[in-house]
Amino acid sequence: MFKDKILHLFDLDGTAIDSLHRVAPCLEANGDLNLSRYRAEACQHEKIMADSLLPLADHMRALIDKGESVGICTARVMRKSDYVFLRQHGLKTALIASRDRLHKAFPPEMAQAIMRSGDAAYKAAWLQHLKATRTETTIHLYDDHDGVLAAAASLGVVTFDAKTINERLDLAFRQGMQEALDQQAQDDFDMLPDEALPLFDDHGALTFGAIMQNQ
Ligand SMILES: [Mg+2]
Repeated sequence: MFKDKILHLFDLDGTAIDSLHRVAPCLEANGDLNLSRYRAEACQHEKIMADSLLPLADHMRALIDKGESVGICTARVMRKSDYVFLRQHGLKTALIASRDRLHKAFPPEMAQAIMRSGDAAYKAAWLQHLKATRTETTIHLYDDHDGVLAAAASLGVVTFDAKTINERLDLAFRQGMQEALDQQAQDDFDMLPDEALPLFDDHGALTFGAIMQNQ
């Protein structure tokens, strides 16, 4: 079957949103989120609102603005503050696969088991559900978690490593900025009228002689 629809699926933390200031203390060694610690320490409204955007957020917003099919697949338990942040930055999508929504897609016992799973198994469950319910869709997943990317690839999902892309976009942005600044400096120089260069015809008034004698 020819699949012509693409669902662009974005992870949030470390992919579109830089929340490291509050999430870092809640990460296990393998990159999984320690959920209980995360909920207890990282989810206050002020902390969520202090998050910033990563370069991929621009790509995500552009896809949303173009009317493409865009979704979120996050390990978060989404709360009001999370939605406020997404709306404020134009990143709210109709489809959100989050831990608090598992019960909408899976039978209760299964939802409970998936809820307790590590990131890779948790997201693999969502991806399988999305694949099963959208058979004519190819999923493009943007994520920064190596285990998630590997699990997704094994499910036939097209994967994009957010770590690499964000680094490249950031570098390109900084290079672009530098080129723009260089160009501006060059333009400013080219714009200088000749009259702005000081004309000095009275060479006899120069005092090089005195300088030379001092040496
Ligand atoms: Mg992540």
